[in-house]
Parts: sequence; structure tokens; C-alpha cells
Amino acid sequence: MGFELTEEQVLIQKMAQDFALAEVEPIASETDLKGIFPEASWKRLAELELLSIPYPTEYGGGGAGYLSYALVIEALARSCASTAVILACHSLAQYPIVAYGTPEQKAKYLPLFAAGKTGPGIFALTEPGSGTDAGGMQTTAVLDGDHYVLNGNKCFITNGDMGTVGVVMAKTEQGIGTKGISAFIVDKNVSPWEVGKHEDKMGVRGSHTTDMIFKNCRVPKENLIWKHGKGFNIAMEALDGGRIGVAAQALGILQACLDESVAYAKERKQFGRPIADNQAIQWMIADMAKDLIAARLLVYNAASLKDDGKPCSMEASAAKVFCAEAAMRHSIKAIQIHGGYGYMRGMKVERLMRDAKITEIYEGSSEVQRMVLSRLALQ
Ligand SMILES: Cc1cc2nc3c(=O)[nH]c(=O)nc-3n(C[C@H](O)[C@H](O)[C@H](O)COP(=O)(O)OP(=O)(O)OC[C@H]3O[C@@H](n4cnc5c(N)ncnc54)[C@H](O)[C@@H]3O)c2cc1C
Repeated sequence: MGFELTEEQVLIQKMAQDFALAEVEPIASETDLKGIFPEASWKRLAELELLSIPYPTEYGGGGAGYLSYALVIEALARSCASTAVILACHSLAQYPIVAYGTPEQKAKYLPLFAAGKTGPGIFALTEPGSGTDAGGMQTTAVLDGDHYVLNGNKCFITNGDMGTVGVVMAKTEQGIGTKGISAFIVDKNVSPWEVGKHEDKMGVRGSHTTDMIFKNCRVPKENLIWKHGKGFNIAMEALDGGRIGVAAQALGILQACLDESVAYAKERKQFGRPIADNQAIQWMIADMAKDLIAARLLVYNAASLKDDGKPCSMEASAAKVFCAEAAMRHSIKAIQIHGGYGYMRGMKVERLMRDAKITEIYEGSSEVQRMVLSRLALQ
């Protein structure tokens, strides 16, 4: 199977690659070391109209589909995984509104997301006691007149302090498990939440990860997405697409591992010749190149299926688990090729290893992806 990109996809890919190389790469190390949100890159993503790539043009989106989106995430992650995840969460936050929002919700919020006027978007599912078991959430939403009143704590939320509009999942009915979960658009200007703990992370340090605290947070009734009890389904469907985004992030990291390894292996001399002359080094590079080809095909395949409106849960999970594990495995090998220098803070390969790790955890860990894959395979 091969992927012939359309003219539009090639243009989008080139624009993202040029932007990443010229403007993201030069600040990536500082973004990581200092853990600072890459404000300039965020503004430029808005100017380049890359904030809503797959979503309808009617509401300011790019209308360019998931494959174009994956190409952009891949290009960003090759330089800076933090920037890639900030955009990926922004995209994830929009999906429930695009897919299930009322015409009024779409008209009000999607153009704001597309222009970046919401700040980076928020998708708030995880809580301290419920990560993988998202259905076990404790946050409640109780109807009181024209408002739902939200109470509870979300944790590990990307962009939790930077964004002003989020999609938040909360329980509207107790005792019926996931069927009691609903999804809400929460607009900080109308329904303020408190930002809690800022996490000090191992990787993707330029993206902010915080607690969100809801204390009698009053959300207008009309901000319920679709209907009562559909929040879990909406969240899981959003994560199907989200997994393609994380897989593309891992793919970009994997490409960077190969780039760095090839360049260093040719340049570094020991015993009077480049270390690339040693078969031990060549085989590490060969395995990276091999897995990169497979990873790219898996991501582009899952994204293409989604663009065609075909089921892609299995393909998205396969892409995520394969790419994440390949990025992790080969980032360790990339450090090995760099020897002691690769172990030093500030070297790109050590950042790649720290950034790769999270792709095995968020938006469904590798164990969760295997649960999805085995369930679908055994059906
Ligand atoms: C940097 C970062 C950013 C994040 N951003 C967001 C965000 O924007 N929005 C959001 O809602 N969440 C976000 N998360 C949360 C993330 O999705 C969760 O961390 C993830 O789902 C895992 O949940 P957990 O950390 O509670 O681990 P747990 O669920 O406690 O899992 C611990 C381990 O047990 C395994 N495990 C659990 N259940 C099973 C099972 N049934 N079978 C086999 N193995 C199992 C897991 O795979 C994992 O290895 C983020 C997390 C991080 C670290």
C-alpha cells in the first residue's frame, strides 16, 4: 500500500515542515529546558491557519482532513513534540463540537478555535482517581434552572491554564456508569474554573499540564453537547481521532531519531573512521529506518480511513501503539549512537527520549490500545 499525497496535502506538509525548521526547531531546546509555552509558535500556527486543519471551512477550519492534520503534527514533532501536543489537544477539543455540537454551538465556538481566540483548546476527561478507567470519574454536573453546576477536579490536563474554552466530561447521573456521563463546552469567560497544580514533567515540557478545579462552576444549559449521557461515547470517538494525532507525534519523534543518528554517525570518528562504518551502528540505523517506514504507513492509513468516513478504531490503535513503542525504542538507540554526548541535557536525542515516553501513556496507554486491538480482533 502506498500513499500518494494530493497537491493540497503536499502544500500543507511543506508549509508545516518549513515553519517547523525555520521557527520551531531553533527554540525547541529552550522551550523544553525552561518548560515555557511556545507563545510565538502558537501565534504563527494561527497565522498559518493550522489550528483547525481537519474541520469544516464553513466555521473557519481548513477542511483538509485528518491526513493533512497528521502531516502537520508529524512535521512539528520532528522539531518539537511540545508544540505538536499543544496543537493536537487544540484539535481534540474541537472534535466533539464539530461532530455533535448544535448549529449555535458550532457557529459560536468553532471560528474562535480556528482563529486561536480560545487560546489552546482543552479536553478534560482524566481525574485523580480515574485515568484509564475514565468512566469512574467523580466530577458531577447538576441541572439547576438554566445552568448545570459542575463540581470536581480534573488532572493532567494539557493547556489547562492556557485555554479559555474546554470540553469537559462530567457525571449527570449516578449509578449507571458511563451512561451517566455528559460532555459540556465550558467557557472560562462565562463559567470560570480554578487552575490547580502545574505538573513538572519529564517530557513535552513546553506544553502546560495542570489540574482544573470546578467549584460550583455554572455552565449554561445550552452548552451541553448532544444530549444527556452521551459524553463518554463522544469522548471515546474523539480519542479515536486523537490517537492518530499521538501516533503522528511519535512518528515525528521517530523521524528525528533517525535524522540525528545518521548525522552523528557520519560525523563522529573513533579509531580513525566514522562510527557509521561499524556494522553495530548500521544495524541500529537500519532498524530505525525500517520501523519508520511501517510507522508512517500505519499513521497515513488510519488518517485516510478517517477521511473516507470508514471505521478506523483498529487502525488508529495499531498506529498509536506501534509508533509510540517504536519512538521509545529507537530514541534509546539514538542516545546509544551518540554515546556519552547523547546522555547530556540539551542534546536533542535525550529530549526525544523523554518526549517519546508520553506517547505510550496519554490518550490511551499501550495496554489500552492492545485491549482495543484484541477486542476488535476477537470479535
Ligand atoms: C503529559 C500528560 C498530558 C495529558 N493530557 C491530558 C488531557 O489533556 N486530557 C485528559 O483528559 N487527560 C490527559 N492526560 C491523562 C492521560 O490520558 C492519563 O494519564 C492516561 O489515560 C493514563 O491514566 P493514569 O495516568 O491514571 O494511569 P492508570 O489508569 O492508573 O494506569 C496505570 C497503568 O496501569 C495500566 N492499566 C490500567 N488499567 C488497565 C487494564 N484494565 N488492563 C491493563 N493495564 C491497565 C495502564 O496502561 C498504565 O500502564 C495527560 C497525561 C499526561 C501525563
